[in-house]
Amino acid sequence: MYKVVKFGGSSLASAEQFQKVGNIIRADETRKFVVPSAPGKRFGNDTKVTDMLYGCYALAEQGKDFKAELKAIKERYEEIIAGLKLELSLDDEFKTIEKQFKAKAGNNYAASRGEYLNGIIMANYLGYEFIDSATVIFFNENGDFDSEKTNQILSERLAQCKSAVIPGFYGALPDGTVKTFSRGGSDITGSIVARAIKADVYENWTDVSGILVVDPRIIDKPVGIEVITYRELRELAYMGFSVLHEDAIFPVRREGIPINIRNTNAPEDNGTWIVESTCQKSKYVITGIAGKKGFCSINIEKAMMNSEIGFGRKVLQAFEENGISFEHVPSGIDTMTVFVHQDEFMHKEQKVVAGLHRLADPDYIDIESDLALIAVVGRGMKSTRGTAGRIFSALAHSNVNVKMIDQGSSELNIIIGVANEDFEAAIKAIYDIFVITKL
Ligand code: ASP
Repeated sequence: MYKVVKFGGSSLASAEQFQKVGNIIRADETRKFVVPSAPGKRFGNDTKVTDMLYGCYALAEQGKDFKAELKAIKERYEEIIAGLKLELSLDDEFKTIEKQFKAKAGNNYAASRGEYLNGIIMANYLGYEFIDSATVIFFNENGDFDSEKTNQILSERLAQCKSAVIPGFYGALPDGTVKTFSRGGSDITGSIVARAIKADVYENWTDVSGILVVDPRIIDKPVGIEVITYRELRELAYMGFSVLHEDAIFPVRREGIPINIRNTNAPEDNGTWIVESTCQKSKYVITGIAGKKGFCSINIEKAMMNSEIGFGRKVLQAFEENGISFEHVPSGIDTMTVFVHQDEFMHKEQKVVAGLHRLADPDYIDIESDLALIAVVGRGMKSTRGTAGRIFSALAHSNVNVKMIDQGSSELNIIIGVANEDFEAAIKAIYDIFVITKL
């Protein structure tokens, strides 16, 4: 049995946090493969080391002096080393980094040093082997992650060691140049390592006790989610839930490895399990509520539209020709409505209107802006009657006018369109009815 444990930046921001991580790892002997992020924020307006590295390298690239900035980064690591009382010096590493910065080794190389150095410290602290991710995680010539080459080389490499630290966030291009994933990419590394070692669990340690049913900026101290499926998470992530890097799901999903989101500051909490499928019912019929503001609806009316074959295609073509993707398309007998992102649509609106006239010849077009979409997601809705009814009576009681309803055919989600200004009230009403009063 193996667990891959990934720790985020806030879990490794200081020596004190490192000690908590050390205790977590030592408490379970199956936690043999560790993926660290770079040190994150120690307090509210602190700067993440990754951002310090980007800033420092920007100076180097402009040929400006970057000594003070690099020294500040070195001090972040030295503070951790001293706090942990380790016999470790990063002097040589920093000499190499300075040289590489002067030689303009690139933004990706610069950012990757955050995880690289933290990995060296972590390996020293735990007495685990250090594996430079540039030797085991690969991208192809186009810069895309090369999953098969990586899986083959990484699994062979990991089979040779009992325990190892593999820094998150980066790998190498075929010519050996360091390349990073997009921001937050250590989540992906953790997932890749879990796949390679065929781990039983991928534990992702962060600073919250799992995924919450709703955004805590809207509802004060909402309840947490115990178990969520990959599909539910995808629906919620699309609507704004930011828990894991989106690309972190695929490597573990293909091996059927569950992800457990845990809190470094409260290791006794069970956190959230993200699984392929489960017979465990979620406590509240719904699993989560998410939403976003800033949508527009374009209502298109045409008499006898329902008998005109190809009308829908022509309407959507007007959006496609302008490079605008659509979110939802509810329709009536003589009407069809297209929901789009307002910022994508705004500066192209008249082109789209002209396109609609040219392609579909409608009688009337009406555009409404400042709309919000809310997704109510839950695998439990399929087997429960009256979910939609409860949502709409709760919204009516809160004086929220519903502009659009769309239930996905998988019965996994119900999407509701409301005015931007009703967004928070609508989410509160839905949370109340399902979680607080459980009516
Ligand atoms: N350190 C990188 C970032 O700040 C990657 C990560 O933490 O996952 O985005």
